[in-house]
Amino acid sequence: MHPCLTCGACCTQYRVAFHWMESDEFTAGGVPAALTERLDAHRLCMQGTYAPPVRCTALDAEIGVYSRCSIHPNRPSVCREVDASWEFGAASSQCDRARVAHGLPPLTAADWRWRDPAGNDDDRPDDNGNSPSSPPAPPVAA
Ligand code: SF4
Ligand code: SF4
Repeated sequence: MHPCLTCGACCTQYRVAFHWMESDEFTAGGVPAALTERLDAHRLCMQGTYAPPVRCTALDAEIGVYSRCSIHPNRPSVCREVDASWEFGAASSQCDRARVAHGLPPLTAADWRWRDPAGNDDDRPDDNGNSPSSPPAPPVAA
C-alpha cells in the first residue's frame, strides 16, 4: 500500500500557502475557495494551516492509521510538490520531519518494494535487493 495512505503527517505540519489564482474562483478545477483563507495580498492558505496547531481542513485522516485528502484532484500546487521520501529516488526533508513529529519512522527505499514485481530490477530505489542489478553475463562459447 502507498505509505501516504496510512500517514497524512505532512498535512498537519506546514502552512499550505499558494497564489490566489489557484482558487476555483479564478481557475476552473482549482482549490475550493470555501476551504481557504486570505494570507496576504497575493496568497491564500488552506484553512487550518495558518497557525499552529496545523491541520488542513481538507484532511480526512487518523495520522499513522489512514489518510485521505478530500480534495485530492483539486489540491494546491504546493501539496503536489511534496514528494514522499524515496518514492522518486531521493529523501524528502518535509516528509521526514512531518513523520518524525508524529513518532513515525522516516520512509526508506524498502517502503516502496511493494511496487516492484519480483525480478524487476530497473535501478530504481524500490529494486528488490535479492535480484541482480545487471543482467547475468552471457555464457562464453566453448
Ligand atoms: S509525510 Fe510523507 S509519507 Fe506521510 S503523507 Fe506526507 S508525503 Fe506521504
Ligand atoms: S489540501 Fe490535501 S494534500 Fe494539501 S495539506 Fe490539505 S489535506 Fe493535505
